[in-house]
Amino acid sequence: MTIGVLALQGDVVEHLAALADIGAAAIPVKTFADLEKVDGLIIPGGESTTVMKLLDRFGLAEPIRGRVRAGMPLWGTCMGMIVAAHGVAGLDQPALDLIDIVVRRNAFGRQNESAEVELPIPVLGPEPFPAIFIRAPWIESMGPGVQLLAERDGHGVMVRQDNVLATSFHPELTPDRRVHDYFLQMVADARESVGKAPTAA
Ligand code: GLN
Repeated sequence: MTIGVLALQGDVVEHLAALADIGAAAIPVKTFADLEKVDGLIIPGGESTTVMKLLDRFGLAEPIRGRVRAGMPLWGTCMGMIVAAHGVAGLDQPALDLIDIVVRRNAFGRQNESAEVELPIPVLGPEPFPAIFIRAPWIESMGPGVQLLAERDGHGVMVRQDNVLATSFHPELTPDRRVHDYFLQMVADARESVGKAPTAA
């Protein structure tokens, strides 16, 4: 099982290190050939407008859409949440439309540009998660198929829809590996359900 980290821009190295910590095989993804090798993809934090342009330039937007719509697990952190979203509130900014959420960029305000918050995330157990927010988006609205996993100040900051996970914060920047473990389990489950799928006659 190999996890890819989209490596066009952003905090790629931190995600690769976090995956190494938990013993997961991981590679940076820069090309279509890299994408073909992975069973799950993380889009890291960074600058969403830059990465959307680079995805188009490198011909990766459509292949990523295709893989994720066919069931490959995807996890977007911060910028990655924006890139995976259906749309961006108040801005005419393209996004991959892989999870039914509309996000607001840099939503927590100037005095709150960067913060570490003890965030309750019930699916990870009773201990709150040390969530680092850096010019983070929040979820402005979401469709009925989306499961809310955590909120801060009344706004969604962690959600899942089937094989797509999104967090406004940066689990790769703290030593707590529970969100990486959670995503790894999503990838393992997806592989198992592919294995169980009935083969066409
Ligand atoms: N503010 C960035 C954006 O809107 C996201 C910040 C991050 O990924 N830490 O693209």
